[in-house]
Amino acid sequence: MRPIQMVDTKTQYQKIKSEVDKAVLEVMESSAFINGKPVHDFAASLSSYLGVKHTIPCANGTDALQIAMMALGLQPGDEVITPSFTYIATTEVIALLRLTPVFVEVDAKTFCMDPAALEKAITPKTKAIVPVHLYGHAAPMEEIMAIAQKHNLYVIEDNAQAIGCDYNFSDGTKKKTGSIGHIGATSFYPSKNLGAFGDGGAIFTNDDALAAKMKMVANHGQSRQYYHDVVGCNSRLDSIQAAILDIKLQHLDEYAVARRKAADFYDNAFAGNPKITTPYRAAYSSHVFHQYTVLLEGVNRNGLKEFLAEHKIPAMIYYPVPGHKQKMFEQFNVASKEMPVTDWLTERVISFPIHTELDEEQLNYICSAIIEFVNQ
Ligand SMILES: *Cc1c(COP(=O)(O)O)cnc(C)c1O
Repeated sequence: MRPIQMVDTKTQYQKIKSEVDKAVLEVMESSAFINGKPVHDFAASLSSYLGVKHTIPCANGTDALQIAMMALGLQPGDEVITPSFTYIATTEVIALLRLTPVFVEVDAKTFCMDPAALEKAITPKTKAIVPVHLYGHAAPMEEIMAIAQKHNLYVIEDNAQAIGCDYNFSDGTKKKTGSIGHIGATSFYPSKNLGAFGDGGAIFTNDDALAAKMKMVANHGQSRQYYHDVVGCNSRLDSIQAAILDIKLQHLDEYAVARRKAADFYDNAFAGNPKITTPYRAAYSSHVFHQYTVLLEGVNRNGLKEFLAEHKIPAMIYYPVPGHKQKMFEQFNVASKEMPVTDWLTERVISFPIHTELDEEQLNYICSAIIEFVNQ
């Protein structure tokens, strides 16, 4: 049996090696390392895949969120509503820009922003909402967009974990996550569903003015060469990463199928076990399984993690400390907020290996070990 990893980017690379190596060598020959043709080609491919008008590549997913917030012209003290149950990047950039993060609860089933909690958190200072499509499952965007429209708020989707996910609207139409809000942001960190061979990120929008502003912000606030109209930053996707990503984008849907197949295997293995709640799949969302995360009930989670480690099976807790309990945010006086659902989830979640290269032998071995510990 091949060794088990949380993500197996190496085996995935072996399968597209000849294509990738050729594309990388072409960039080397061209020496257009920054802003080369592959960057423009990849942006166009991604726009067409997602069904958005504009894709602006940038250096990483954290920058993507930051550039989005900078382009919206948010002012210090403006409130941005976001789940507490997310990766730190989502909430950190809010604080970095001296905006005020306002944490809200997630739904215990989907792990994504709870629209009722969102609506309750809106104040006259609220300017934007940042829903997160956590683990590869969409946040309830139809409800979130309706609330945003009612209160005249911007929506920035954190799509770092859900690229390729389909959203089914109640009128029967479909959109890709990241293309529904005013702006979508994503990451091409190597372990993400569309992973580069280094860092990368992108921002999406259908709004021409916002696209122009985001391009400017990402490029030192420059409107034309050496004329800097606004304070910006320097955030670029390099040509080598773009060339690799353009190839991998063609495989993204297959990758989602492979991830879903592994998830189905786990679901079947754990079906009916009262101690394991398998991931919920809402009818409105496809699931691209960036993570396969279950809830444990009456199981010693650390004990399970150690038991699996002894069997050379990695497992992770995403995330052990939610935003409202992070020291970083104490200054915002959010640490005292009660978040019973988030706290409850934080104590129970565990993520098992999921990626495009898991085979049945590995999955059988992982599931047997989990069930052996859980049922003991
Ligand atoms: C990975 C991730 C980010 C940040 O992406 P980087 O490319 O690592 O900066 C932001 N939000 C979420 C939810 C993520 O999973």
